[in-house]
Amino acid sequence: MPLTLPDWAPRAPLEPLRLSWLDEAGVALAVLRLDLVDPLVSGNKWFKLAPWLSRAAEAGAEGVMSLGGAHSNHLHALAAAGRRFGFATLGLLRGDPQDTPTVRDLQALGMELQWLGYGGYRRRHEPDFWVSWQRRYPRFQPVPEGGGGLPGAQGCRQLVGWVREQLPALGWDDYHGLWVAAGTGTTLAGLVLGEGGRHPVLGALAVPRDHGVQEQVRALLAEAGVADAGYSLLDACRGGFARIDAELAGFLLQAEREGGVPLEPVYTAKALMALRDEVRAGRIAAGSRLVLLHTGGLQGRRALQAELERLTNYTDRAVDVQG
Ligand SMILES: *Cc1c(COP(=O)(O)O)cnc(C)c1O
Repeated sequence: MPLTLPDWAPRAPLEPLRLSWLDEAGVALAVLRLDLVDPLVSGNKWFKLAPWLSRAAEAGAEGVMSLGGAHSNHLHALAAAGRRFGFATLGLLRGDPQDTPTVRDLQALGMELQWLGYGGYRRRHEPDFWVSWQRRYPRFQPVPEGGGGLPGAQGCRQLVGWVREQLPALGWDDYHGLWVAAGTGTTLAGLVLGEGGRHPVLGALAVPRDHGVQEQVRALLAEAGVADAGYSLLDACRGGFARIDAELAGFLLQAEREGGVPLEPVYTAKALMALRDEVRAGRIAAGSRLVLLHTGGLQGRRALQAELERLTNYTDRAVDVQG
């Protein structure tokens, strides 16, 4: 049966986040809670996926296949969307078979899994990579890793409208900037498109500078036919992608307790911590009103919970967790 597009108009609340270091600096922060979009399909990944699903429906595909690691938020959102809206999903996974909370969810959500090994996964950029998978799974539409590309960015444009619509409920007539964690920069590029220069967008980099986010955003904006402007990037990765240190772990647990908003250490806590550092350094003026996009990813935190707790007891360790 060909895939049909869900008749679904998700919403995410815009909520004030009160934290002592914000109050002390006279900075107001509101969070667009994409983690609350849906119990199954959470975070920014749905918005990057939706335009690809439209393409799959137009192409008459019966299912969708994509790539990711054993903790992938992207594969999780894809599997969840497949379950929720009734289409088949195939996940091509990095490395050797692993048993993680994410992998167990993917299986429970009905995703078929193929483990590519590390070498096999590295071949994903080769031009004929999808040709062989399409030969094996002719009914499945391929979606790039993470739901990237201009369609993925276009799917995130609407989020700016969601912020604007909800400002009156906060008693705000405007805001000074939009903050978002950046991995590939696809979501960031979508926000820049949605803002159209009205407010600056700050991308808190969850990956090192040499991962090419700047080039990627520039290319997406060029493809969309708009100027490479309206945003800036800040290093928020604290030594590497998915690298977790004791200070970050302590900050995350404290912010959760104080602000009542769940975070995860790979993207959202690092973005919030980078904001804290900017506030502390006096680079955010008193009276500023900022909006932070909560990009979800909480499912990936389960595998890290013990490490977060351990790190807050022993302060001299840092660990790497591959996403
Ligand atoms: C994937 C992801 C991001 C990064 O999104 P990009 O569009 O790749 O920059 C940010 N936060 C979370 C929780 C994610 O899962």
